Amino acid sequence: MPVRRQGPGPVLAEVRIGPAAPQLAGVQDRDPNARILGLVDPWEVGDVQLDLKADEVRVAVAAKRHASLQCLECAKPCPGYDSRQRSWRHLDTCQFRTILIADVARVEHPEHGVKQVHVPWAEPGTGFTALMEAVVIDWLRSLASIEAVAEQLRLNWDEADGSMARAVT
Ligand SMILES: [Zn+2]
Repeated sequence: MPVRRQGPGPVLAEVRIGPAAPQLAGVQDRDPNARILGLVDPWEVGDVQLDLKADEVRVAVAAKRHASLQCLECAKPCPGYDSRQRSWRHLDTCQFRTILIADVARVEHPEHGVKQVHVPWAEPGTGFTALMEAVVIDWLRSLASIEAVAEQLRLNWDEADGSMARAVT
C-alpha cells in the first residue's frame, strides 16, 4: 500500500466547526449608543447617518412615547405647545464631527410662557451636549487659550468662549 504524502490538507482538517459562539457573559447592552450619549428613557437613538462629504455623523434621537411634559422653569406639567428640531455638537466619533438631532417639545406655561422641555443630554441654551461641553471646558482649563481650544476641537471662537462663560457662572 503506497504511503500517501501529507499535503496541506491536515491544516484544514484541524479547523473545527464548534457549537455556536457562547453568549457573552455579563450584561447585554441593548442600546450602547444610548448609553454612550447618556440618554435616558423615553429618549432613544434613531437613525445614525454618516456624511463623508460633510465629515459628519448625524445621530437622530427621539422620544419613544409621549412623556409628560414639564415647564423648564418650574417643572410643572404643562400642555404641549409644539416641537422644534434642535441639534447639539457631541464628542467626535472617530474624528467625524458628531451632531445629535432631536425634535424637542415646547410647553406653554401660563406664567412662564412657551418653554422648551429639558433634555437629559444638554443644559438649556447651549449647542453642545453636556459631554462635549465638559471636554471643551477641560481643554480650556488646560490649554488656557480659547483660540487653541477652538482650533483643536474645530469650534469657532464664540462657541469655545460660550462654554467658558457657562463654566464660570
Ligand atoms: Zn413654569
